Amino acid sequence: MLSIVLDQPGHFRLAQAPEPPAPGPGEVLVRVGRVGICGTDLHAFRGRQPFFSYPRILGHELGVEVVALGPETEGFGLAVGDRCAVEPYLNCGKCIACRRGRTNCCERLQVLGVHRDGGMVEWLMVPAHKLHRSLLPLEHLALVEMLCIGAHAVSRAQLLRDEQVLVVGAGPIGLATTQFAKLSGADVAVMEISPARREFCRDHLGISRLVDPQDDAVVALQSAFDGELPTVVFDATGSAQSMASAFRYVANSGKLVYVGLVQGDITFGDPEFHRREMTLFASRNATGADFHHVIDALESGRVNIAPWITHRSVPDTFIQDFPTWLEPERGVVKAMLEL
Ligand SMILES: [Zn+2]
Ligand SMILES: [Zn+2]
Repeated sequence: MLSIVLDQPGHFRLAQAPEPPAPGPGEVLVRVGRVGICGTDLHAFRGRQPFFSYPRILGHELGVEVVALGPETEGFGLAVGDRCAVEPYLNCGKCIACRRGRTNCCERLQVLGVHRDGGMVEWLMVPAHKLHRSLLPLEHLALVEMLCIGAHAVSRAQLLRDEQVLVVGAGPIGLATTQFAKLSGADVAVMEISPARREFCRDHLGISRLVDPQDDAVVALQSAFDGELPTVVFDATGSAQSMASAFRYVANSGKLVYVGLVQGDITFGDPEFHRREMTLFASRNATGADFHHVIDALESGRVNIAPWITHRSVPDTFIQDFPTWLEPERGVVKAMLEL
């Protein structure tokens, strides 16, 4: 069967992988239909993904169809032909985080397409409990994982109604965070350096409070929120400088959620932190509950994901197309591989 292997940074190769065996207990064989491309894949391609080993089959944003069910999968409500989103976070089920239901930050977490081979392949074996069934089209199912990152960040913050929210960074994760903060009834502003991305927020997410971080950010925020600062700030930039600056954007008593991450230290002045009695959260991956929430939002039409897909490719052209998606002027929001 066909697979796309990232041999080393900067070098993909089409390869024939061995046919998968029959699924074992608790396993399901799926046909991969669509693979969403995300920042993690771009970092792996550039060789900037820490603790990443090559060769690796990428692909963790997956829209799949059930091909065969192994024994002991009866209780999962799955049948051959079902379409599913894949929760790619394989957790141990035993560590302290897993025992507390925080499967997204398992001590021994293995993410498909990151720590082990993922979905840029025709057929893939997946644990039955990591499949989330839905009638949505495969292309939309392939975006569920990315949306879950945003939905999980929003659930971490436990937004109250009418909360004043700022999302810093309008890449796909920032957009997902914006979308689910809005869905929870919050009043959302977005801070983003790219005019094209600010425009996307206005046109497709209905965000009218848009802030350019090159302006005096604190003043711009105060004017966006009637003289006050946002009570919850999400940083989805993956920039250490932005993440440190974000402490200044939070209202007294407010919360700061780091959705994006950096390899390195973030320093902040304790008086800024203490004076506000601020709460700081990390948000990592997502849980099964987030998958249910996101699929429900898509199925009910409360979230329209169609405009997010700006670029598409098939295996024959993927290797040439992929590097072009790194160029900012291409205006990629989400690129999609059709297998
Ligand atoms: Zn991703
Ligand atoms: Zn665990």
